[in-house]
Amino acid sequence: MALRTIQRKLREIDRHSRRVERNAFDRAQSVAFVLALLVSPFVVLMMERVRVVDEATPLLAVRIYTEGASAELRARVMEGDERAKPWPGVTPYVDVDSVQRTSWFGWPFATRDVVWPTETKLTLFGPAREELREKYSALAAPLAVRAGVVHTTTTESTHFIAWAFSIGVWWCLLALASAIVISPLRLGWYVYRRSRAIVRQRRIDRSHCPNCGYNARESLLRGRCPECGAELYERPDVY
Ligand SMILES: [Zn+2]
Repeated sequence: MALRTIQRKLREIDRHSRRVERNAFDRAQSVAFVLALLVSPFVVLMMERVRVVDEATPLLAVRIYTEGASAELRARVMEGDERAKPWPGVTPYVDVDSVQRTSWFGWPFATRDVVWPTETKLTLFGPAREELREKYSALAAPLAVRAGVVHTTTTESTHFIAWAFSIGVWWCLLALASAIVISPLRLGWYVYRRSRAIVRQRRIDRSHCPNCGYNARESLLRGRCPECGAELYERPDVY
């Protein structure tokens, strides 16, 4: 029963709704909307290449040094602002920084992120030797492992919800862009039609042919222009 009532109501609404005529611009707009919907996932995919944000987080800083007259290299984790302070009786050799680099891809939302293996950055001081880099790294490595900051694999994750939102944003942007392109054309066409309608109305007012402007006063009864054959007293198209 209820269903039938709803159907009847819907039919009534349909009958009383004003028919809106769709012109070429409306159809072009609809096509552009559908195209934007199909294209936006690929734009999101493309943005993953175009926009990459790298983030480097310092995890651990280790200093390699010798103490006093001893030639033995020692390694110690630096706490707080120890790096900037002077270390009395100590000769600094190398600062080893463990850095976690993370890359974020996509716009406006990050649709993918990659956590890279932990990188070590060496800063060599006066007495340190370039060819011993590996030895310095090896000295600092156990400290980083003990601190639990070492990440040896590449972890990649895709954010599906961000994907959905990005596609939505790109659809809106592309739809807006198509509207911005089509609107001036539509306005131009409207102005042209209006000016044509004004010209035709003026010709009708002077009993001239609305199509070619020929003075058709003598042919009014025939209803056709002797020059071009257009109908006389034709109403102008007003859009
Ligand atoms: Zn004519």
